[in-house]
Amino acid sequence: MFPSLSCDSFFLSLCLCILCFSRPCFPARILPNSVTVLTAASDVHNATWRDFERFLDAGRGSQVSGMSELKNYFHRFGYLPNSNFTDIFDTDFESALTLYQSKLSLPVTGRLDSDTISAIISPRCGVSDASQQTALHATRHFAFFNGKPRWVRRNPVTLSYALSPNNMISYLSSSDVQDIFRRSFSRWSAVIPVNFTEAETYESADIKIGFYRGDHGDGEPFDGVLGVLAHAFSPENGRFHLDAAESWAVDFKKDKSKAAVDLESVATHEIGHVLGLAHSSVKGAVMYPSLTPRTKKVDLRIDDVEGVQALYGSNPNFKISSLQSENSYNRAVALDTRSSFKWAISLTLLITLMLRLAT
Ligand SMILES: [Zn+2]
Ligand SMILES: [Zn+2]
Repeated sequence: MFPSLSCDSFFLSLCLCILCFSRPCFPARILPNSVTVLTAASDVHNATWRDFERFLDAGRGSQVSGMSELKNYFHRFGYLPNSNFTDIFDTDFESALTLYQSKLSLPVTGRLDSDTISAIISPRCGVSDASQQTALHATRHFAFFNGKPRWVRRNPVTLSYALSPNNMISYLSSSDVQDIFRRSFSRWSAVIPVNFTEAETYESADIKIGFYRGDHGDGEPFDGVLGVLAHAFSPENGRFHLDAAESWAVDFKKDKSKAAVDLESVATHEIGHVLGLAHSSVKGAVMYPSLTPRTKKVDLRIDDVEGVQALYGSNPNFKISSLQSENSYNRAVALDTRSSFKWAISLTLLITLMLRLAT
């Protein structure tokens, strides 16, 4: 009735059946819509840094003409102390590179692999990644500026902001820009006991916002399309500058440019700096340093919230349940990861059994 199976064939069939009907669990499958993928897989690369692609696969001991430019990049963003840089991939550069990979949550290889090169050429915030890391909790990745500066005001804390009347973008309506900043500030005020109001005059504002081109007098010149998108200063400075050369978008349905950058995402990120947060290594966090064009990332993540609440405390009206979907996501990822582990163990055991039978 049934074709006879050899022992090996039987176990091979068994393995195939188990593999077909078991549930391989890959966390990416359950990514909620709100999660933004921030790796630089985009077609749009930053012309400013695209030249760095030629260093792909360079490792310790390599000497490639122009490597000193890449070292300047690492110096600019807080990974290498100032020095006369050569074109040799030396041990100091390797240390800086592994620190960068760790900070950006990339595979730590110590080589200029494709993930690392993609991250390097991604458009990003101009604020340095050097920070005072919080070492209290290994699972938390938010950071503060050195000295942990914050706005100190009598309670209730109210900070005023204003858009520079002379440094706006002509193709954006002022009402659109005002709405975007209102929403961006309200995301932060929802989680901390700090209110933001529009100042009556630009001069009197605590937080002064404007779009600037190239060298604009603060020692941090902008670099044209993509590259550095914006920067803001730590408390209680209040300066918040956006690169006027970007193609700033308020609605991707209307703005079809491949290099369009979402104004609201960058505004929300820079307000984090204005409040005292440095860059986070959580890729989904608003405070992660890079942002791919045509990406919207405006919802604060638990890492952002915990970071800013460590500076200002919690807004009494804030409920952690408002971030419940993210918590569910994190738990689901953890469960799925454990399931994947069990699945991999089962597969290993089966293969071992097959090898034993074959010998
Ligand atoms: Zn930043
Ligand atoms: Zn500036």
